[in-house]
Amino acid sequence: MSETHIKIDNVNAYYSGNHALKNISVRIPKKQITAIIGPSGCGKSTLLKCMNRLIDLEDEIAYSGNILIDNENIFDRKTDVVNIRKKMGLLAQKPTPLPMSIYENIAFGPRIHGVKKKPELDTIVEKYLTLAGLWEEVKDRLNSPASQLSIGQQQRLCLARGLAVEPEIILCDEPTSALDPVSSQHIEHLLLKLKEDYTIVLVTHNIHQAIRLADYVVHLYLGELVEHGTANEVFENPKEERTRAYINGTFIPEFKIDAEVNLKGNECPYNFIYAKQALHNLAKGKILKVVVDSPTAITEVPRGMEADGHNVLGVKQVNESDWEILIRKQ
Ligand code: ADP
Repeated sequence: MSETHIKIDNVNAYYSGNHALKNISVRIPKKQITAIIGPSGCGKSTLLKCMNRLIDLEDEIAYSGNILIDNENIFDRKTDVVNIRKKMGLLAQKPTPLPMSIYENIAFGPRIHGVKKKPELDTIVEKYLTLAGLWEEVKDRLNSPASQLSIGQQQRLCLARGLAVEPEIILCDEPTSALDPVSSQHIEHLLLKLKEDYTIVLVTHNIHQAIRLADYVVHLYLGELVEHGTANEVFENPKEERTRAYINGTFIPEFKIDAEVNLKGNECPYNFIYAKQALHNLAKGKILKVVVDSPTAITEVPRGMEADGHNVLGVKQVNESDWEILIRKQ
């Protein structure tokens, strides 16, 4: 294994007492892509948020353990959080351009860090827009609002904005899940190129994306580290049956179902409305199983539930016509 960049030791995290990360210890290699995989709700984002201490912004959170980056313990409360975050770019699920021009989105960070001269800023803007594969598409409209870009372009702009403050690490939280296939491919190609110079940690529930991109794999399940190793080891010859099942798509999470609603025979939007009513009666954190047989429900119910902020834990075909959708109320 190549040189370690991030050393995670015995990390535990609790949201209001809910044990979301259980004693995680793993090494993230330098200048490689590490994919954190596992089904929804297994702790992937929580682990990522620990790495840049954005976890501090959560309500009623408690965490312990150590995370060392370049031998500095970022879990030490005395560590300067601003400095930590400077080392790390974050590419979120949905692009969040600043409400300003394309140019200003990139110049914003370097300006805060003391670059004031226009020619210098011009060079930086061109350099990072080029690196993010966006320069040719936007060079004639740098002063247009960033919000006018397509979602895929906005995501590349956010990547360029992150790179402009010269981080060492890029943390990606499902960075293509809101994008169309062509824009997703664009981001994937960029990540493969960027790993020559940056350490990349990629949270994804898309196993195919992990197979395409990862050098190193960390498999989490219900807050536990199931398995970790090089992509070859984990994908070709997993040690754990749970990993094999997850990779093969036969993984069935062993969730305790708190309520069940049979919506067979219903069409959209009624499927979604009835599922929402059933969820309404449950307490936060409880799991609802919805059984549907309408092909549109398989996409529309999960999409609506995620838009409402709930966790879709899985969608599974149970026989020729029926599907089960598991939703955790948030
Ligand atoms: P993943 O990224 O794998 O989907 P998360 O890290 O988001 O998983 O969530 C791990 C667990 O922590 C889940 O049980 C989830 O419901 C819970 N959780 C995540 N964020 C919060 C929060 N802000 N408040 C309470 N529980 C949370």
